[in-house]
Amino acid sequence: MPLDTYDKIMMLAKRRGFIYPSFEIYGGVAGFYDYGPLGSRLKLNIENLWRSFYILKDNCIEISTPTITLYEVLNASGHVDEFTDLTVDCKKCNQSYKVEDIINNISVDEAIKENKIKCPNCKTNLKDAYPINLMFSTKIGFGKVRDAFLRPETAQGIFIDFHLLYRYVREKLPFGVIQVGRGYRNEVSPRQGIIRLREFSMAEAEVFIDPENKTHPNFNKIKNLEIKLFDNIKEMKISVEKAVDKNVINNQALAYYMILTQEFLYSAGVDPEKFRFRKHSDNELAHYATECWDAELFSERFGWIECVGIADRSAYDLQSHIDSSGKDMYALRKYEEPKIVDVKKIIPKMNELGPLFKGNAGKIKSILENLEMEDSKKITINFDGKEVEIPNNCYEIVETKEKKIGDKFVPHVIEPSYGIDRILYCIIEHSFFEGKEKDEEYKILKLNPKIAPIKVGVLPLTNDDRLVSIACELDDNLRNAGIETYYDDGGSIGRRYARMDEVGTPFCITIDHDSIKDNSVTIRDRDTTKQIRKKIDELIPFLKEKIDN
Ligand code: AMP
Repeated sequence: MPLDTYDKIMMLAKRRGFIYPSFEIYGGVAGFYDYGPLGSRLKLNIENLWRSFYILKDNCIEISTPTITLYEVLNASGHVDEFTDLTVDCKKCNQSYKVEDIINNISVDEAIKENKIKCPNCKTNLKDAYPINLMFSTKIGFGKVRDAFLRPETAQGIFIDFHLLYRYVREKLPFGVIQVGRGYRNEVSPRQGIIRLREFSMAEAEVFIDPENKTHPNFNKIKNLEIKLFDNIKEMKISVEKAVDKNVINNQALAYYMILTQEFLYSAGVDPEKFRFRKHSDNELAHYATECWDAELFSERFGWIECVGIADRSAYDLQSHIDSSGKDMYALRKYEEPKIVDVKKIIPKMNELGPLFKGNAGKIKSILENLEMEDSKKITINFDGKEVEIPNNCYEIVETKEKKIGDKFVPHVIEPSYGIDRILYCIIEHSFFEGKEKDEEYKILKLNPKIAPIKVGVLPLTNDDRLVSIACELDDNLRNAGIETYYDDGGSIGRRYARMDEVGTPFCITIDHDSIKDNSVTIRDRDTTKQIRKKIDELIPFLKEKIDN
């Protein structure tokens, strides 16, 4: 069978040090890959380009939180109960499958009962489907241990710090917080190579907004840009403003981050013809989302791949953590002038709450203190996902006057969540070209210079000491100026160009005998193969300009 593009790319990736299968000498495990020297660099460059969009352009702040996450956090967030995939096992060979991977749009139970679907491996009938949780569980400590999971997303680390971050930004909304790091999902049986991993890299932004003003300060600047949407039936190109006005996209804030995503992906080298946003239908929305759009990139073997999910998570996460932890994670919508208002304050009595609620009494006290007292005589709070009635001997109600400076509310969250590995693979695929010239096969990765792992190949034409000395000095100077180079003095110049083309190096500098006389070199452009002559002194600003633009 001829190799398809995926096979060709993965072979190139392994041979040239981009991507290796993990644990290969012990047989390897599906869902794990190593990044080699060029892959690590490419990934870092993509992540840093992403950061430039979110930190510089969008003014977000970045944090970094542990990948091991306490049970309590992921229980509150709904992941313990809801982060599942419907799975099915074969009656004979016991192979497990994610139901979604083997059935399309038909009732699962019916299909299995009527034996309409068989094990793709041994063609035997399947057992009944059941949900499995995708999180890797672990324990913290010894003896008296705490239950924990490897995080399935970076987002929860941001939500549980909301009160601290809100103070850091001096209590103003909207603000965005980003995190770049590993996520872990024990995928049922990953068969799609680097597309479905069990440990992968995520870049996520959690943008906290006022639910009464779901927009972005820069919405007007982008409202006329066109966006490519697919609503599961048809594709349309439409201005962002129209998409929001016609309620195709629910709000301006969500639409703004869709455009930011489109700009980032184009800038990273995604082919616009192989890009679209697809709306989640109601039955595929995650447990936390009210609306979600996937940025999908096209790949020859896998078709449209979800590479970014942009979700409106509403108040879901912060409200869940308020309910479970009892912490004040509200924001304040300030009045122009403070008001004096009559308030009924709840004064919790610890001597009654203590014996009744034991270890949870402190959390319940803090929930009660933050409660806005209404007229009802009964107090019922949401705690750990349950409604809990607080007996009236556990508190006192004091009527008083208070200076109020605003209304408390739970912010809503817009979350663009990027899978870096999938983006990296698709960028390689979209940049991959091959052909034949004078009976020689060639392969080129037309990577955007901004993300290319090597920016410049430094190639002395011969091993003449005088050329080598100029080339070595130039190589040093370029790297010290922040331009990644690769020094190559082996083989014919044509072979050396080909090696650089294959790993996506946008420029090659050749040092020849004229360089000794006139202090100038040849610069070859990867995509046009055109060569120009430049003075060595002018190289650094010239190359920097080319790489940055
Ligand atoms: P989600 O939280 O499921 O929307 O995932 C966010 C992003 O992470 C997705 O858009 C994917 O790009 C990426 N992603 C999710 N699961 C995997 C996986 N198993 N392997 C690689 N990337 C993944």
